[in-house]
Amino acid sequence: MLNIDKLNFSYGDMQVLWDLDLTVNEGEIVTVVGANGAGKSTTLKNVSRLVKWTSGSITFNGADLAKHEPHEVVEMGIVQVPEGRKIFPEMTVLENLRMGSFIKSARPDRDANIDRVFQLFPRLKEREKQLGGTMSGGEQQMLAIARGLMANPKLILLDEPSLGLAPLLVKFIFDIIQEINKQGVTVLLVEQNVYQSLRISHRAYVLETGRVVLTGKGEDLLNDDHVKKAFLGM
Ligand code: ATP
Repeated sequence: MLNIDKLNFSYGDMQVLWDLDLTVNEGEIVTVVGANGAGKSTTLKNVSRLVKWTSGSITFNGADLAKHEPHEVVEMGIVQVPEGRKIFPEMTVLENLRMGSFIKSARPDRDANIDRVFQLFPRLKEREKQLGGTMSGGEQQMLAIARGLMANPKLILLDEPSLGLAPLLVKFIFDIIQEINKQGVTVLLVEQNVYQSLRISHRAYVLETGRVVLTGKGEDLLNDDHVKKAFLGM
């Protein structure tokens, strides 16, 4: 579905991604783990076309993403849920959700999708008239994911969805990611919560200073000595 091939990317003089290869097959949950600054968010931003790579390629169902602008990438079915939530703080929950279905192809499904995300996140239904900015961190994260789903993604890109959340909410968010995937959405996840993310992933990549140093099945990486030492404190 998504093919990243020998991708190189720099911010000015500083090269951040080095010959990065990564694939996501339809139906999978694929996770990229790595320390702060390894280039995880930058990888997602390249897929969304928010930044432009210097060499290599990214294709989505065979289409060359180099030829597309960010809004076209959304129309093609790739939706990024950014780190730090970035919901619209002055809008209500319902208004935030409606904003998520701005693309033409998602508008006819707006009401059905609102029902669907309220089933996933009953808390959002309870708070549909509340201003986004007055909700807790966990609720804002739920809203950000729900808003992303409003665009009918085929592939959802999740950037650190568990960051800063209390343990119970972390578990809830990872359960929801699995549920979304079961409903047919392919997931590319970037996480610092290595244990939880590998636990739910079909496959994963370990990134160090912009290079893939390890890749494999989620469960195999959980048992990998390097991963245990570097990320799981074992
Ligand atoms: P984090 O979890 O801290 O976001 P990350 O693995 O997602 O880590 P990136 O955000 O992709 O890492 O950052 C990779 C490198 O690029 C870091 O050294 C970072 O300082 C640098 N960087 C990120 N954004 C910019 C920017 N807009 N301009 C310049 N350098 C940047």
